[in-house]
Amino acid sequence: MHPFSLEGKTAIVTGGSRGIGYGIARGLIDAGARVIITARGERPLNEAAASLGANCIARTCDNADPAAIAAMVESAWQLGPVDILVNNAGISPYYKRVEHVTVEEWDSVVDVNLRGTYFASVEFAKRAFDAGTSASIINVSSVSGVVPLARLGVYAATKAGVQQLTKVMALEWADRNVRVNAIAPGWVETDFTGDLFASRHGESLRADVPMGRLATPEDIAGAAVWLASDAASYVTGSIVVIDGGRQLR
Ligand code: NAP
Repeated sequence: MHPFSLEGKTAIVTGGSRGIGYGIARGLIDAGARVIITARGERPLNEAAASLGANCIARTCDNADPAAIAAMVESAWQLGPVDILVNNAGISPYYKRVEHVTVEEWDSVVDVNLRGTYFASVEFAKRAFDAGTSASIINVSSVSGVVPLARLGVYAATKAGVQQLTKVMALEWADRNVRVNAIAPGWVETDFTGDLFASRHGESLRADVPMGRLATPEDIAGAAVWLASDAASYVTGSIVVIDGGRQLR
């Protein structure tokens, strides 16, 4: 079998109903995997799953709720062993300087981006340990976790946190065949960035990207396929930056 093939493997992709998660789900399915996509909005999630074909299943889940995450991971494993977890669900609901952030805003971002990633990983890894299977966890971080981006303080802290979490989990779980890696995208054209790039900040943000364009979800998906596959069997604790050179500024 080709080392990049995901034939016979099953993946969970959180936040898979649109954007980067949808692109990653498509990439994994194209490589042969069966994929369970999750999100909060049921209708767009079901539509996304239908558009991805017979190898895609939808499960609603709010990643701000650890109990919902545990139930979702359990329900996925009831279908059979799960080999791959992509922690992609994430939010960045505002763009403002740190002194203007409220406690509620802080909590909302941290709960989904950092706590959600943490507990989804733990729920998934515990089942892989019990089943004695090998597994790959791929966390979707951000270039803002590598270099500081103004007006994204809490978001950037969660994404830097996800990178350190990636390394600690990789260290602790290496001898139990659970690899943990992260992808750190730069600006990607999705609903997430639509308003920001249409705003007065858009032009200068685009000008800061050395390659002169935003990424597409497809630009990100290839790294997820690689990290999920046997081609990356000796890769753990790595942060793969996919940012058109943004971190070099
Ligand atoms: P997006 O287009 O807004 O899609 C986000 C996805 O996550 C949707 O499926 C959404 O569905 C789901 N989601 C949001 N909140 C959730 C929650 N509480 N529980 C479960 N699912 C939830 O965003 P994107 O641009 O694809 O971003 C995906 C990931 O990439 C995020 O972690 C983001 O931080 C990261 N990222 C994005 C960029 C960028 O420029 N776009 C750059 C670097 C990193 P529902 O709303 O229906 O739940």
